[in-house]
Amino acid sequence: MRYRDPANRIRLQLLALVLAGAVALPLPALAELPSLGSQTGGELTATQEVEIGQRFLAQARQELTFVHDPEVVAFVRLLGNRVAAQTDFDAYPFQFYVVKDSRLNAFAVPGGHIFVHSGLIERSDSVSELAGVLAHEVAHITQRHMARQVAASKRSQASSLLLVAAAVLAGMQGHGEAATGLVAGASAYSQQEMLAYSRSHEREADRLGVKYLAGAGFNPDGLPRFLQKLQSWSQLQGRAPPPYLSTHPLTGERIADAKGRASQLDNGSNAPLGETAFARIKARVQAITADSPEKAFQELQERVRSHPEDQAARYGLAIAAGRSGRSQQALDQARALVADHPETVAYRRTLAELYLAEGQTDAAIDEIKAALERRPGNPDLREALGKTLLAQGKAEQARQTLREVTRDFPERPSGYSALANALSRLDRPVEAHRSEAEARWLQGQRTEALEQLRLAKRLARERDSAQLSQIEARIRELEP
Ligand SMILES: [Zn+2]
Repeated sequence: MRYRDPANRIRLQLLALVLAGAVALPLPALAELPSLGSQTGGELTATQEVEIGQRFLAQARQELTFVHDPEVVAFVRLLGNRVAAQTDFDAYPFQFYVVKDSRLNAFAVPGGHIFVHSGLIERSDSVSELAGVLAHEVAHITQRHMARQVAASKRSQASSLLLVAAAVLAGMQGHGEAATGLVAGASAYSQQEMLAYSRSHEREADRLGVKYLAGAGFNPDGLPRFLQKLQSWSQLQGRAPPPYLSTHPLTGERIADAKGRASQLDNGSNAPLGETAFARIKARVQAITADSPEKAFQELQERVRSHPEDQAARYGLAIAAGRSGRSQQALDQARALVADHPETVAYRRTLAELYLAEGQTDAAIDEIKAALERRPGNPDLREALGKTLLAQGKAEQARQTLREVTRDFPERPSGYSALANALSRLDRPVEAHRSEAEARWLQGQRTEALEQLRLAKRLARERDSAQLSQIEARIRELEP
């Protein structure tokens, strides 16, 4: 038995309750899967892991709210990929996602999918802390911990993995109250066995995590520092334990071990991604994920008042001002930032967005072009350019720009949506619906995506039968 320690047992019992709650979730993927794992006796193959990851992702897109903001997503991906580049794992590529959720959590799913909550980003005090959390998750993947854990249990591996996935989702959504068991027939022991990583897996992920961190040029102490913070939060009376702790058991020994490992490594003074950029991302996350834009505005305004030199806070304030309907203040703040730091692309892009929202398209184009000179090819800027051209009525130019963006960056839902608008303006409705379908699909809205494709199909029959077979093929791919 791995879980002799009472604190762990309590944590795992809590987790079993969470798992019981998962029955309330619609989990069609669960019913389909068992054939996947049943033909093999040993561990899952990489192909099976990839398939499970894709099913999990499809489910997660329905159940969770993702942050699609290009700047935030790009930062987390860059950070994660820098860390992942330190591994020699090549079974499948890593994918990083940001979930809009204020609670502290990060988790990895077989197939290389790593998720981090917006709340964890906001509460990381340095870029090495966030990189440390990602590095730990990367190590769970490279060591195939979840797959090995499940292989050690007696259940069909694939269905067990999906139970884990379901539990992760259920736990994140707080479905802890339902009484019936999702895992009919599974003993409490096997539930425990499946849900949380073992202590030895945690230790291994920490050790490799600090190694990846240092190798990538970050301060390896970021990981133990974050763990320590988690521990003090969880010890605060009356505070619900962060969801992170339910799958990543934390002990004093684990922190000490990670600290010891980190102290033997170079402290990464040449961090490839600086604290300035990270502070900016945190302020942006705060401004865009706040359920109350007004509250975010007040908080950031307070921060700027007490620290007028705090660039990141001024940046967050510009965004929060825009979101809370204070367009003039937003413009003033962003213009001042661009004047003080003309080299920072993020400020110019935000200013351009604000101009665009105000209908000042010429000013928006000027800012975007100035930023593109510094960062040619940047997808955010190219997408902003496309949208602004469309706002100026230059639909064909907009279409070309946005078509290139979706071709070069096919994972961006915003690119497809903008392209759909341009196509629609050009009276090309079949393509417009197809493009909108891709945007919906990438945002996890399968039903809406299929609806768009069926509209496209109906119109194609009337006016553009050349597209019919492609549309039908896409419908077959997306149908559950
Ligand atoms: Zn862990």
